[in-house]
This record gives sequence, C-alpha cells and structure tokens, in this order.
Amino acid sequence: MREPDQTIPVALSRPHRPLGIALALLVLLLVGVLTYRASERHGLRQMRAEASHQLDILAAAIDSEVTRHAAIPSAVELSPDVLTLLRTPEEGQDTLQAAANHFLQRLNDHLGGPAIFVLDTRGRVVASSDWIFSDNLLGSDLSYMPFFRAAASGVPARHYAVDKVRHEPGYFFAQPIRDETQDWKVIGVAVVKSSIRESERRWLGQEAPALIVDNNGIVLLASPPEWRYATLQAQGQSQLERISRDQYAGQPVGEIALEINLAGADEGVVVSLPRHLRSDMAPQAGARPYLALARNLPGAAWRIVVFSDLRPVTVQAATHAALATAASGCLLLGLLYLNQRRRLARGREEARAMLEAANRELEQKVTARTADLSDAVTHLQREVAERQRAEQTLRAAQDELVQAAKLAVLGQMATGITHELSQPLGAIRTLSANAAEFMRRGDGATAEKNLAIVGQLAEQMGGIIGPLKTFARKSPAVSAAVDVALAVDAALFLFEQRLRKQNVAVDRQIEANSWIAWCDRNRLQQVLVNLIGNALDAMAESPVRRLVFAAQAADGGRVALSVTDSGSGFSATALEHLFEPFFTTKQPGEGLGLGLTISRDILRDFGGDLLAESAPQGGARFIVLLPRSPQQPTTEVSA
Ligand code: ADP
Repeated sequence: MREPDQTIPVALSRPHRPLGIALALLVLLLVGVLTYRASERHGLRQMRAEASHQLDILAAAIDSEVTRHAAIPSAVELSPDVLTLLRTPEEGQDTLQAAANHFLQRLNDHLGGPAIFVLDTRGRVVASSDWIFSDNLLGSDLSYMPFFRAAASGVPARHYAVDKVRHEPGYFFAQPIRDETQDWKVIGVAVVKSSIRESERRWLGQEAPALIVDNNGIVLLASPPEWRYATLQAQGQSQLERISRDQYAGQPVGEIALEINLAGADEGVVVSLPRHLRSDMAPQAGARPYLALARNLPGAAWRIVVFSDLRPVTVQAATHAALATAASGCLLLGLLYLNQRRRLARGREEARAMLEAANRELEQKVTARTADLSDAVTHLQREVAERQRAEQTLRAAQDELVQAAKLAVLGQMATGITHELSQPLGAIRTLSANAAEFMRRGDGATAEKNLAIVGQLAEQMGGIIGPLKTFARKSPAVSAAVDVALAVDAALFLFEQRLRKQNVAVDRQIEANSWIAWCDRNRLQQVLVNLIGNALDAMAESPVRRLVFAAQAADGGRVALSVTDSGSGFSATALEHLFEPFFTTKQPGEGLGLGLTISRDILRDFGGDLLAESAPQGGARFIVLLPRSPQQPTTEVSA
C-alpha cells in the first residue's frame, strides 16, 4: 500500500519547475514577438494600401491641375495673329503685338488659365494674356528658363518654376511654334503657366505629411509648408545656386535638407523624419518612423510622396501582441490546470485501485483466518467433547471406585454389624417365642409387653441398618448445605463398635450447626469414613488411642476440618507418596492404596482439598478443606 506521506505527483516535479517556467515564458515571448511581427506586417500592408489610395487621389488632383492647360500652347500655334507677330521682325511688331495680346487674353479668359504668353526665338516675351496688368511679362527675357531652351530646340517642355517678374511659382508648359511657310522652322515658343495654388491649398489641408519633389530633388509642394524648397538630400551649394537661378528666379532652395532616402519608396520604405522639421509633433517627442510611399507623377519628372505615421501600427501590433500573449498565458494555465486535474484523477484512481487490492487481500486473509479459526473451533469442540466424554468416563470410574471403596468399608464392617444385629435378633427370637407361649396361656398382658420389646429391638436394628443403607447407596454427587459436625457423627456411627473394641477416645471438638459446608453429604461421609478407618489402622498398635476432630476457618472462604490421630504417623516416603494411587504400606488384601487418592479427588470436585501432615505429638493429621455454604449459622463458633 502507498505510504501516507507519498503525495500524488503534481504537474511539474520540483527539479523541472524552473525549466518549465522558463519554457513557458519563452513560448509566451515567442508568441508576443511573432504576433507583433504579423500584426505589424498586416498593419504596414494596410497602411501601404491606404497610402497608395491617398497617392492616387493626390496624383489625380495634381495631374488634373497641371495637365488641364497642357493643350493650350498647341492652340496658340494655330493663331494667325501670333504667327504673323513672330514672322515679323522686331521693329514692326508693335501693332501686331496688340492683336496677339488680345487673342491670348481672350483665350485665357475663355479657359480660365493663369497666363499664356509667347516668346520669340531669343526668349523675349512678345505677347502675353496679362498685357493689361502693369506687372505684365511683356518684354521680359525668359531665355534662361529651362523650358524655353528645350522648346526653342523643338522639344515641348514642362516644369515647375518661379518667374522673375512676379516671383510666382507655377507650372510652365512650353511648346515650339513652327512656321509651315518656313519649312516648319521654330519661330517662337508658346507657354502656359498654370498656377498650382489650388493644389497647394488642398495639400495644406491634409493631415498626413506629403510632398512633391522634382527631378532635382527639390520639394515643390509639401505639407507641412515649411518643407517647400527643401531638398531630400543635402546638395552642393553651387548646384543649389544654379537651380535657384534657372528655375526659381533667385529664390533660395535647399536651405533645409530633409535627409530622406526615397530609394525603394515606390514599394514603401520606413523613414525616420527628423523631429525639428515636423510641425505635427510635439517638440519633446523623439523621431518616429514613418512609412514613405512614392509615385512618379505621369507626364512630369516629379515624384509625389506621402508619409504615414507608423505609431498606430506599432500601437496596434503591441496591443495584438499583448492580447495574444495574455491569451496564450491563459491557454497555458488552462492546459496546466487540465493536466493537473488529469494527474490528480489518475493519482486518485491509483489510490483507489491500491485500496481495493489491499481490501481484497485483507478479505482473503480474513477468510483464511476465519477458516483457520473455525477449524480450530471445530477442533476445540471435538476436544471439549472428548474431554467431556473422558470426564464422564472418569466420573463413572470414580463413582465405581467410590462404590467399591464403600463396599470394601462395608465388608470390613460386616463382622461388627453381624455382631450388632445378632444380639437383638436373638432377643427378638426369644421374646417372640415367649409371647406366643404367654398368649397360649392366655397371659395377653405379658405377651403384649414382650411384643412391645420386640418392636423396640426391631427399631434398634433399623437404626443400625439405616445409615449403612444410606452409605452404601450409589448416588450421583449433589452439592448442598452440610453440617460438618453431623457428617462426622454419621461417619463415627459406622465405626461405633470398632472404636469401642479398640478403646479409642474420640474428641469431637465441633458443635452441631456451627460449620456448614457446601458439598455432597454422602461423599463427605465417605471421605471421613476413609480417614477414620486409616486412623484406626494406624492406632492399632498404639498405647494411646485418641482421635480428635476440630474445625476452623481457612483461606478462600473455606472451612478446615482436621482429623488427628495418635497412631504411627508417616514416614518421610509415605508423606511424599501418600496421595499417589496404589501407594499403601498395608499388607496385601488389607489395602489398595486408593482411599486417599479418591478422597482428595472427591474434595477437589467440590472446590475443596485434602492435605496431610505429621501431628505435633506424633501421629497423623489430615486436613479436609471444604467450601462454606452461603447459608451460614447466625453465630459463628471458631474452633
Ligand atoms: P490403604 O488404606 O488402602 O493403604 P490409603 O490410600 O487409604 O490406602 O492409605 C495409604 C497409606 O497411607 C496407608 O497404607 C498408610 O501407610 C498411610 N496412612 C493413611 N492414613 C494414615 C494414618 N492415619 N496414620 C499413618 N499412616 C496412614
């Protein structure tokens, strides 16, 4: 069976617990990291899609804004006024210029464009839609501008620039004007300057940072507005100055370098925006990562870039990671709990099985032991029965022995009894003969007197025979209250003649009704007869013959009756073997050596005993121990 201190195993045994905890933490960490990564990836994908959508909208807006007027220069080429003006040498142009100006103004009003003008082959403005304003472009030299150079060489051009006159940024579309009469020679350049103010307004209204950068790496439009004319990367001073001069009418560019690398930005790259350039962030906030997504604007060498703050993505990824970790933690704990429960249930099941096995074993042992016990009981019962049978046989044998002993005593007494009876018998015979004679003579009175004496004598004979009859009767032992003095008297009566003949002085020191024993009267009488017979035998040769009976209280609520004689007494050997069966010092035919053995057995049957010792003045003393009757005389007399 399991010892009580053997506990049911827990989920993790002690040496493995730190390892298990470390493993669980590792799993949780892994779950957190993987979830963070997956969520971040998903967030980035989503953000990229949103940014792309935003790019689409912005690009479409810019495109429609800048390309709205792209076809106007072609229309200008078709104007006869313009062609005439350009075919005419400079000095003759004055009158023609007005017509061309009117045409351009009308066209511009009709289209709502900001400015349309025509340059001659030297780059001078010869006609302009804004001729009506005082700060018009008429006469200004725009030959330095890159679009002119391209268009003058026969290639249409478009780009962002700031004009020197109004210092107004705009998008310039330039197209060569060819003269079919001069073999399609370029005779001038038609230019439309479209304002991007409308776009600028929309840009500034948008929340996420965005910018448009031209092929020189100069930011043309931006939200936040302070990024305008910044460069993406730091550039050489001379290059910046050249760009400023050619394209921006001396307006300084590249004073701020954003240090943004847009390589791979078409697919989206993570860039870190410098804090001091970002108006949307609190000054104390550190540089944060942004997703930069760029796209080339169709028809222009521009790139449009939007920046999306990655904070929501990282926050969401962190939240997802925390949730996944917590869920995994709960799952782990749940699994641990289930495992624990399973182990506990198994432990209980094992304990129950062991208990059942122990119970079965116990039952088997009990059954085996019970069988042994019932065998032993049967054996004992058999033994008891055998003993009872043996006891019955013994008792029967004892009874037979007692009877034999009694008959032996009676045999010894037979002579005396015969003598006792012969005397009254003779007298009866004589008296009855005399009575018959007296009756014949008619002396009825004397005959009656004789017969009365006969009656007395018969009574006397009955008195002699009566006790003998009682003594000789074979009866089972039945305990009753017995007066010890009367029992002694009855035994002495049987030896009356012998006592007289041997001249024995009997001293019975016990008062009648003073000691009441609890035994069978007949058996006690036999014991006493046996003791008195032995005493008379022992005193046969003694000069003094004295037989003393005395009684006194003994241990165990018993009475001790002593029978002391003045006979030969015991030799040491006799005293040692006295109670052994067939020990006798008498002549063959005079004693069997069973008297004392039987006497002691009889007394022990009653709960008494028989002891022997040498009397102080010589002779022998026997002590008969008898249980006392519960009914004792009221006044106890001590011996
Ligand atoms: P039995 O009388 O047939 O010999 P008992 O058993 O009665 O058998 O006595 C055994 C012996 O004990 C006697 O033979 C005798 O030697 C001794 N004995 C018994 N009573 C006395 C006595 N009162 N005085 C001396 N010896 C005795």
